[in-house]
Formats: sequence, structure tokens, C-alpha cells
Amino acid sequence: MLSYDEALARILSQVPVLNAVNVSVGSSLGAVLWEDIAALVDLPPFANSQMDGYACIADDTGGASPELPAALRIAPGESAAGRASAHVLQPGEVLPISTGARLPQGADAIVMIEDTRPGRDAGFVEILAQSAPGQYIRPASEDAKRGETVVPAGAIMTPGAIAMASAAGHSCIQVVRRPRVAIIATGDELAAPGTALAAGQIYESNTFMLAALINQARADCVACETASDSAESLNAAFDKAGQAGADVIVSSGGVSVGGHDLVKDVFAQRGDVDFWRVAVRPGKPFAFGRWDRRFFFGLPGNPASSMVTFELFVRPALRRLAGHSQLVRSVRTATLAEPISHQPGRRSFLRAITRYELGRFLSTPAGSQGSHLIGPLVSANSLIILPEEVACLDAGALVQAMLLREVD
Ligand code: AMP
Ligand code: MG
Repeated sequence: MLSYDEALARILSQVPVLNAVNVSVGSSLGAVLWEDIAALVDLPPFANSQMDGYACIADDTGGASPELPAALRIAPGESAAGRASAHVLQPGEVLPISTGARLPQGADAIVMIEDTRPGRDAGFVEILAQSAPGQYIRPASEDAKRGETVVPAGAIMTPGAIAMASAAGHSCIQVVRRPRVAIIATGDELAAPGTALAAGQIYESNTFMLAALINQARADCVACETASDSAESLNAAFDKAGQAGADVIVSSGGVSVGGHDLVKDVFAQRGDVDFWRVAVRPGKPFAFGRWDRRFFFGLPGNPASSMVTFELFVRPALRRLAGHSQLVRSVRTATLAEPISHQPGRRSFLRAITRYELGRFLSTPAGSQGSHLIGPLVSANSLIILPEEVACLDAGALVQAMLLREVD
């Protein structure tokens, strides 16, 4: 049986980065940039004012103070944001200017409005402070020169990167394509929520959970099938997943050793099962395989097993496909808030609540760890990782906790 590390390495050694697609900058949040973004213009494109005030010639304000103000003539018009003035400033003149407006020709400084007062004579303003050349001027190309790379290939499109791509003049950019994922839930017992349950049935929940996990991983769910425990039904579901153009097929249930667990055998008729079973708890009967260019992840049906094996194996693969270099969730050293007992042998991933308190992370199991229990999944924000050899741990022991979302 493969260890967690071996299984993950084996998956990642086979999964490539997908191709590039053109997307609008506005819809690129979280995508990995395929090629450098170069500035199409100088950024900013022109020297402009950092303040609302007056564009002036710094020399004209020499020695100015509230006691000895410099009275300067207000030139006609103004330079407003988006409406640049064509006026060429002459000695002894100022031009009203607003933040972001282009600096008029002839000016070399800005006096902010707070450093002025109305002049005694109409058409004049009194400057109350001496200004130096360049004061409150934002030079052209201070952020970037035209042609310069402003966001490098491989960068993640964050809100800041989106701002930069837009400011640099781009409406569309090349990013790594989002992975397409098909979900197949299997089990004769599954009924759709909202319908009446027949004897022995349960409401299907894994497809909804997996769709949410896929969504969180920034991949697209292109098909969602529910199959019964028959070769015919499973074959039809795989066919649909293939037709939907899935890069990845994620199934839940039917990969264990029971008489009705047919998923691996049915899959093996069209693809290759690369490995089955990993020494993790929960999620041991996990299967990984390939069908042409598609990757297949057979997750166990118990909800906690499905969730944990998705986090451990599917999510890193989706991130690789999407071009990320950071594939696994971040792990923090945390203090155990209560004692836990562990059966050595497999690496365990306890659904846990981790919080940050008084300068340290504190983790506590989110209730009972039965892999059939859904309750703990509601509040868990992390997985406490217990190494294979560890037995019982006391409260206060240091553990590693994999964070599944922001700690709040
Ligand atoms: P299996 O892996 O098929 O043996 O299923 C293990 C357990 O998970 C059984 O109790 C199933 O009823 C349950 N299960 C399987 N698939 C789902 C699903 N899609 N939603 C909720 N529970 C499921
Ligand atoms: Mg089943």
C-alpha cells in the first residue's frame, strides 16, 4: 500500500499543466498567468498632480509664508482629471489643478489648496508656503515604462495583478485554462435531496460537496452524474464524463472491497488503474487512474473520506493542471487543545477546528472522527495530521494542522 507521500508524488508526476486561454482581465481572479504582461503605455502615462491645488513654477514661491505670501495670477481654465489644459504656464502664474490631472506645460510644482488663500486682488491667489521643483508631482512612468513587464508569467492573478493588467491597458490576457471536472456519485442507496426517501435510501450529499470543493479549487464542474451499483449505469456515467470533455473524473463510492464496489473494474475496461489504496485515515480505498488524457480519482463514499481524499489528492492535481506551483494547502504548527488517541499505522487526518489565539494556533478535533459523520465537516476548518507512528497525544502537544480555509 502506498504512503500518502508516495501516492501524492505518483499523481503529481503524471499531471501536466493545461494549455492557455484568453480571458477578460475582470474574470481572471485566481488564474495563473501564461505569459508576461507588458505595459502598453507608460504608467502613469503623463506627469500629474498628487493634490488638489495649483500648478506653479517653484521659483515663484521662493520664501513664501503665511506672513509673506506670494501673490500669483490665476491663469484661465483649469487642469482637471481627464481634461488636460493646453495652457502653457508663464512666470508669475498658477493654474488650478486637481488630483490626477495632467501637469500643464511650464509648471514644475504643485501647491496644495491647503497652502493657499484667496488673493487680495481678483484673479490672484496667495501662496503660503515655498514649494520645491517636483513637489506633489507624480512623474510619468513612475510605476512602469511602456513595454516593461508588469506582471510576470506564472503569477497568480490577484486583485492587485488585475489592477495592474487593467492600468497597463489590457482587457484580455492569456492564462492557464481552468480544469474541467466530472463528478460521478455511485450507490443504489442514493436519493436526490428534495425527493422522498424509500426504505434504505439516504440523501445524496457527496456530489454537492465535491462540486463545492471543485469550485473552491477554481475548476469547472462540467458533468455531475449519479450512477447505481451496476456496470451498465457506471459505464453510462463514464461515457457522459468523457463526452463532457472532462480533464478529471472524480467518483465517490464503490471503490472498496464489497460485492457492489464495481467502480475500479468498470473503469479498468476503458482506462488504467495506476494504484489503489493509500495508507491514510480516512480514505484508504482511494483509486487513481488514467483514461487517455483524463485523470481518474476514485474516492471512497463516506463523506469524510471523500472530502479528505479530495483535499489530499484531487486538489493538488487540479492546482497543477491550472499552472500553480504551490499545490498543497499550508500547514501550521498548532497546539492540541485536548488529548487525542491514535491508532498507529496509517497517517491520519482529523477533521479539526483551528483558531489563532494569544500568538499561537490551537487545534481541537471537530467531534467524533467516524468517516460516515457529516456533522464534524460543518465546523472543521483544518485537518490535524497525525504521523503513521504516533499513538496518543496529550493536550498541549504540538501537531501539524493543514488549513482548509482562513482561520477565524
Ligand atoms: P461506499 O464507498 O460505496 O462503500 O460507500 C461508503 C458509505 O458512504 C456508505 O455508507 C454510503 O451510503 C455512503 N455514500 C456513498 N456515496 C455517497 C454519497 N454520494 N453521498 C452520501 N453518502 C454516500
Ligand atoms: Mg457504495
